[in-house]
Amino acid sequence: MSECCSGAVLPRKARSRCRICGQEGQTVKRVTMEHLLTEPALARLMNAAYFFCPTPTCPVVYFSNEADSYFHKGEVKVRVGIKETEDPVPLCYCFGITKQMVLEEIGATGRTTIPDFIKAQVKAGRCACEIKNPSGRCCLGMVMHVVFATIRSKAGGQSAG
Ligand SMILES: [Zn+2]
Repeated sequence: MSECCSGAVLPRKARSRCRICGQEGQTVKRVTMEHLLTEPALARLMNAAYFFCPTPTCPVVYFSNEADSYFHKGEVKVRVGIKETEDPVPLCYCFGITKQMVLEEIGATGRTTIPDFIKAQVKAGRCACEIKNPSGRCCLGMVMHVVFATIRSKAGGQSAG
């Protein structure tokens, strides 16, 4: 039995786990990668199922264990918000919203209109997360996460509970 054939079908867990950070990846569409990989990286894109690594500290963005193919932050045209700690940290790629914009608005007014703005744009069909957001997913979840975390940390400083 040859090596190449014995390893052809990996169990689901092994297929979707990033081998750098060990975390489970999220499925990602090919169209997302085709839009966001740099040209040299795109030339290495294999015909296989890829996953997006959501771990903030991991440099891997896309991977396919099946094809033994890994793409890192430097091979993606945009900054991957979840993996950045310095400005600008993109939250919403379709409408150019950064983490800083959310923090500033909440800092100034105690609340933010950004989620409602994004929801209205999405409703009007102006969103293109599939080809603009590196994860290929709607950014609202990430935006809400940052909003809640910011409001909670503000409230936490003033009162307990
Ligand atoms: Zn990873």
